[in-house]
Amino acid sequence: MIFVISGPSGVGKSTIIKYLDRQDELYFSISYTTRPIRNDESKGIDYYYISENQFNEMIDQEKFVEYEEYGGYMYGTARTELSKLSEYRALVLDLEVNGATNILKEYPNSIGIFIDINNRELKKRLKIRGHEDETFIKTRINLADKQRDKKGQFEYYILNEEILTTVNKINDIIYNRIL
Ligand code: 5GP
Repeated sequence: MIFVISGPSGVGKSTIIKYLDRQDELYFSISYTTRPIRNDESKGIDYYYISENQFNEMIDQEKFVEYEEYGGYMYGTARTELSKLSEYRALVLDLEVNGATNILKEYPNSIGIFIDINNRELKKRLKIRGHEDETFIKTRINLADKQRDKKGQFEYYILNEEILTTVNKINDIIYNRIL
């Protein structure tokens, strides 16, 4: 079983995913990215960090089941990650919305979970992160609205109002579906 977790940028998805129950039956897919590693991340745990050349080589060798450009960097899910399905009851993928809908189409049995927040909250979060520029904020809100256009393709929709409640909801969905 494949769980695809997605949602507009800025909803706090990566934090939510970090708090999900790491049950033995679950495998959390590790993506490849050309983005530089952040201070709080570890190689081979959060991502496989590779150069643009290496990424392009992997595209040529058809090693990705999906890949997308996001914020100026490339992100991709290797086919080898999906093959972990033979070892685990379920895979969890954390993808931006385009990659997520591609996987949902390609694997019709996969389960989509769309995490959202309202625009007022999104604005607040962007400001907390130091983005005061109104044009930047407007662009991000427009992007979130566009990403929401695809929410109908996801089986579950969760409005992230309180992080632990959201984490519990996702844990429940996963647990109930893999039983
Ligand atoms: P970040 O750079 O903040 O870790 O991730 C940026 C965005 O890329 C997030 O929305 C995350 O879900 C998405 N992402 C991470 N890995 C992949 C991937 O392999 N494919 C796609 N399509 N998106 C990914």
